[in-house]
Amino acid sequence: MKVATTAAHIGLERVSRTGAVTVPIYQTATFRHPALGQSTGYDYSRSGNPTRQALEEGIAALEGGCRGFAYASGMAAITSLMFLFRQGDHLIVTEDLYGGSYRLFEKIFLQFGLSFSYVDTSDLAAVREAVRPNTRALFVESLTNPLLKVADIEGLSAICKEHDLLHIVDNTFLTPYLLRPFDQGADITIYSGSKYLAGHNDTVCGLVAVKDPELAERVYFHQNGVGAVLGPQDSWLTIRGMKTLTLRMDRQQENAQAIAEWLSKHPQVGKIYYPGLPDHPGHDLMKRSCKGFGAMIAFEVKRPEQINQLLMKTKLISFAESLGGVESLITFPQVQTHADIEPETLERLGINNLLLRLSVGIEDKDDLIADLAQAFEEGEHA
Ligand code: PLP
Repeated sequence: MKVATTAAHIGLERVSRTGAVTVPIYQTATFRHPALGQSTGYDYSRSGNPTRQALEEGIAALEGGCRGFAYASGMAAITSLMFLFRQGDHLIVTEDLYGGSYRLFEKIFLQFGLSFSYVDTSDLAAVREAVRPNTRALFVESLTNPLLKVADIEGLSAICKEHDLLHIVDNTFLTPYLLRPFDQGADITIYSGSKYLAGHNDTVCGLVAVKDPELAERVYFHQNGVGAVLGPQDSWLTIRGMKTLTLRMDRQQENAQAIAEWLSKHPQVGKIYYPGLPDHPGHDLMKRSCKGFGAMIAFEVKRPEQINQLLMKTKLISFAESLGGVESLITFPQVQTHADIEPETLERLGINNLLLRLSVGIEDKDDLIADLAQAFEEGEHA
C-alpha cells in the first residue's frame, strides 16, 4: 500500500463494535480487569492506551517497521532511546543537528558516562574514521537542521553493519513519505512528530519506529519504564494530522521549490541551502534516494541588520520556533534553536549571524514570496 493510503487510514477500526471510522479518544488512566489473572490487553495508560496504540501502529505501518512508539515530545523519544546504552558507550552523531539533541547529549547524558563524537554524516569517510572500539550507535539526521545536509542512509547503514552499530535516523525533516530509512538499512527512526507528522503547529509529540521485534521489545521496556508517553488527546490530534501528510508535504515542497528559486535570484540573499536546487551538494543523492526535497530552506542575508528586519517585517510568515506545520515560520537558528551549541562550532558549521531558517507552509506561494519581498524592501528603505 502507498503512504497516502496508509496515512489516511490510521486509526480506522476495521473490527469495531460501533463501526466508528476514526479511533475514539480513550481518555482513561486505567482499565478494568475481567477477572483475576485476566486482562483486556490494556492495564494502565502509561503501559498502553488504545488511542496511542492506533498512532503507534500508524507510524510503524508508514515506516514498514514492526512496531511504533509515541512519546510526549521528540526529545522524550530521544531520551528514552538513550537508555538503550550503558556507561562507557560511544555514539557518532551528526554535527549539524538540532540544538536540543546536542544539549541532551552533551549536558545530560555525558554526565552518565556516554560519549559522543560529532561528525559530518554526509561524509561516509568521516563517519568510518570516527568509529571506536566502544562505539555502539550512529545517530543521524537524514536532512540536517538547519543546514540541510543530506545523509546517504544506505552508505551509512553499510558502515553500521560492518561495525555492529545501531543505526538511528532522526527523519523529522523528511517523514516516511519522502524517505523510508528501513528500506535503506536503518534500525530505528525517530521523529519530532510536532513537525510534519502532526503538521498543524498545534501538538508536541515524539514518534519512534523499530524494524526488528527483539529491539522493539527493549524500546518498549524503556518507553514504559521511563514513562514519557503521549496522552490520548494528543495521540488523536497527531493521527488526525498524519492523515493528510502527503497532501501537505506535496504542497509545502512545491512552495519551497518556488521560494528557494526566488531567493536564489534575490540581490540581498547570500548563500542558500535547499536540496531542491541543482547546485546543492546533496541534490543528486536526494533525487536518487528520496521522493522529494522537503520544505525547509536556510538562507543567508547580506547584512546582520537584515535578520531583525526580516523577522519583524514578514507578516504572513511568523517569527516562531518549530517547523513543518501548515503555517510558514521563520527562525534565527544561531540564537534560537541552536543556542546550546558552542559559538565556535556554530561559526565553523555556518550557523552564523546571517542565517535564517524558513519552514514553508501550505499557503499560496505567491503570497509567501510577496511577503518576503516586502520584508526585504522595507529594510532597504529603513
Ligand atoms: N529532532 C529534530 C530534527 C528537531 O527539529 C526537533 C525539534 O525541533 C527535535 C528532534 C525535538 O523534538 P520536540 O521539539 O518535539 O521535542
